[in-house]
Amino acid sequence: MSIEKQIKELRQRLNHYNYLYYVENAPVVSDYEFDQMLRELQELEKQHPEFADPNSPTARVGSDLSNAFKSVDHAFPMLSLSNTYSLEELHEWVEKISNEVGEVEFVCELKFDGTAISLTYEDGRLLRAVTRGDGSRGDDVTENVRTIRSIPLMLNGEDYPSYFEIRGEIFMPYASFDRLNAEREKNEEPPFANPRNAAAGTLKQQQSKIVAQRGLDCTLYQIAGQNLAFTSHSESLEAAKGWGFKISDKIKVCRTTAEIDDFISYWDIERKALPFPTDGVVIKVNRFSDRKALGTTAKAPKWAVAYKFKAEQALTRLLKVSYQVGRTGAITPVANLEPVLLAGTTVKRATLHNADQIMALDLREGDMVYVEKGGEIIPKITGVEISERKAESEPLQYITHCPECGAELVRYEGEAKHYCPNQSHCRPQILGRIIHFIRRKAMNIEGLGEETIELLFENGLINNMADLYDLRAEQLAVLPRLGEKSARNIMQSLQLSLDVPFHRVLFALGIRFVGETTAKYIAAHFKDMDSVINATKEELTQAEEVGDKIADSIIEYLHDEQNIEIIERLRKAGLKFKAEEKAQKSNVLEGLNFVISGSFSLHSRDELKAMIEAHGGKNLAAVSANTSYLLAGDKIGPAKLQKATKLGIKIISEEEFLKMILTSDHDTEQNPTEQTKSKAENPTPQEQTKTNEIVTQGSLF
Ligand code: NAD
Repeated sequence: MSIEKQIKELRQRLNHYNYLYYVENAPVVSDYEFDQMLRELQELEKQHPEFADPNSPTARVGSDLSNAFKSVDHAFPMLSLSNTYSLEELHEWVEKISNEVGEVEFVCELKFDGTAISLTYEDGRLLRAVTRGDGSRGDDVTENVRTIRSIPLMLNGEDYPSYFEIRGEIFMPYASFDRLNAEREKNEEPPFANPRNAAAGTLKQQQSKIVAQRGLDCTLYQIAGQNLAFTSHSESLEAAKGWGFKISDKIKVCRTTAEIDDFISYWDIERKALPFPTDGVVIKVNRFSDRKALGTTAKAPKWAVAYKFKAEQALTRLLKVSYQVGRTGAITPVANLEPVLLAGTTVKRATLHNADQIMALDLREGDMVYVEKGGEIIPKITGVEISERKAESEPLQYITHCPECGAELVRYEGEAKHYCPNQSHCRPQILGRIIHFIRRKAMNIEGLGEETIELLFENGLINNMADLYDLRAEQLAVLPRLGEKSARNIMQSLQLSLDVPFHRVLFALGIRFVGETTAKYIAAHFKDMDSVINATKEELTQAEEVGDKIADSIIEYLHDEQNIEIIERLRKAGLKFKAEEKAQKSNVLEGLNFVISGSFSLHSRDELKAMIEAHGGKNLAAVSANTSYLLAGDKIGPAKLQKATKLGIKIISEEEFLKMILTSDHDTEQNPTEQTKSKAENPTPQEQTKTNEIVTQGSLF
C-alpha cells in the first residue's frame, strides 16, 4: 500500500473511532489501541510532510458537537492534552520544558476519566455550561449541568471575579455507573461500555430530569478570567475551592522528575481504591508566565502532558470455558473466571470471541490469565501466565457439536465464528429469534418477556414468531404466572404491534447482519417486502449500507422455505410489509430531475431521495440531458461529475439543496446545524461584550 493511502486509511479509521467515542459514546477499540494508531499516523505524517492536512485527527480535537443543542463559541479554545504511556518520554518532556523556561514548577493532578466542561459564572451565578465540542465551539448543556449537585449554582464569599470561566471534568462515579447499567439491562437498553461514555452520554440527554437521576459528579481544574490576581495554577485552584467549587485534593506541586514519578507510581496503585474512574496523571507547568512562554499547538498546550495508565489488568484463574448459542446460531465461547476486582467492578466472565482467539492465546482451563477492560463492556483475556501453568494441563479442545442440540457445528467461509446450523430445532436459536422479535426496538410487544416466551414454548404454544399471532387469550390465561389480566395485555400488545412500521418489522425478523439502521435503509430503498424478496444480490447492494455480506445473508434467509412461510403468516396476521407513503410536502421541485451521487453529512442518500419526491421532484439514476441538478456529496463518482460538467448541468451541494426546499418547509428538513449556529454566531450585544472581556490567564485549554 502506498504511504498516501496508508495515511488516508488511518485518518479515516481514527475519524470513525472519534465519532463512535465522542458522539455515539460507544467505542469499539480501547484507548490504548486508539492512541497507538494515532501515534502511527503522527509518525507517518512527520516522515511525509507532503501529505500534511490541518484536518487530520493528529491536528484536531475530536469533536462531540451534536445537532441537538445550541452551539456556543468558546472564548478561547478548549484543547486536548498530548499524552504518553512511557515514563521515559515523560522525562524527556520535563527536560525539554526545563531547558526552555529554566527552573520550573510542575503540578501533578489525577486525570479524571469523564468529559470536559466549561462553566461560566457571572456575579457569582452559573450562567452557562458548554462541552468541549470541536475545541472552538461546544454544545450548550446548561440545563443538564444545573442538575449536578457538586456544581455550585451560586458561589460562596465575595472575592470571585464578576465574570469568569472555570473548566473541569464531569464524570460518573462507579456506584452510579453500576446502578445505571443494571437499570439499562433491565430495560433491554445496551449498557454503557465504561463510566466515561456513560458520563458523556448522560450530559447529552434531552431531558435534564434524566440527567438529575444519573448521579454525575464534577471536579474543576482550570480557571480563566480578566485580571485575575493569581500568578500560578495552584494558587488559583486554592481560591476556587474557597468559592465553593469541588477541587481535587489529590494534587501536588513537584520540582523534580523523581517527585513526579513518585506521584505517578503512588496513584497507579491507589487509584484502584478510588470510587471514580481515572486514566492517568496530568502534569502541568504551574506558573502562568511560564505557560505563556511555552504556548500551545492547534491541538494541545505545550505546557501540559497526560501520563496515561495502561488499561488496568488483573490476574485470575480461568475456571472453565462455556459456549453460548446466539439466535443466529453463532457460538460464543465465554471464559468463566475466579471473581476478581478490575477497574472498580468484580469480573467473573470474559469474552473469548472465537476458536482462533483461544488457539492464539493457547488458553487452557486452570490457567492463570490476564484480564483487561478494553473498549467493550465485557472484559477480555489478554494473556496467560505460563509460569503458573500446571504440568498436567492440556490444550483446550474447541467443541465440534452444538452444546444445546448436538448438531455438528459449521464454519462459513470468511467467518471467524462456528455456527449451529440447526435453526429450526435448536432451542436457544428458536427462543432467541422470538425474543428478538418482541424487543422494544423491534415489535415492542409489552407483557411478553423472556420468561413468558420460554413458558409459551415449553407449553407447545409457540415455536416461531408467527405462532404469536395465533395465540388466544384463553390459552394464555390458564398458564402458571399469567392469568386473565396478563393474557388480555398480551393480546392487546400483539394487536398494537400491527401498527409497527415496515422497517422495524424487517429488523424484527432477525436476519443476520440486518440491524436497526440497515433495516431502515433497506425499507427506504425497496419500500415493500416483495421487492426485497425478489431482489437480486446486485439490486440489494444498491441500498445504502448493504454490502456483499449483508446481501448474501438476506438472500440466504429468504431462500429458506420456513422463513418465507413465517413471513406469509405474519403478512396474513396484518403486520406491515410495506413502507408508508410519505405525505406530499410541497411542489417547489416540480418538473425538476435530480441525480444524487456521493456521500452526505446530514442525510442519507435515501432520505434525500425521499425529500426530492416529497417536494414534487423526480430522482433519476444516471446523468443525462434531462437532469436538472446533480446533487453532489463527498467522493462523488468522477464519471458522473465529468458528464454533468460536459452537459452544463448545475451541480449543487447538500446545503444548497436544503435551501431550495427550505422556503416551503421550515420545520423538519431545515439543517439543524445552521439553525443553532446562527444563534451562536450572532450573540446578543451583552454576550458579545462579555466574550471580548475575557482575557485568559496564560494560555488555557
Ligand atoms: P484526553 O482525554 O486524553 O485528555 C484531555 C482531557 O483530559 C481534557 O479535555 C479533560 O477533559 C481531561 N482531564 C481530566 N482530568 C484533567 C485534569 N486534571 N487536568 C486537565 N484535563 C483533564 O484527550 P481527549 O482529546 O479528550 O481524548 C483523546 C483521547 O481519548 C485519546 O487519546 C484516546 O485515549 C481517547 N479516545 C479513544 C477512542 C476510542 O475509540 N477508544 C476514540 C477517541 C479518543
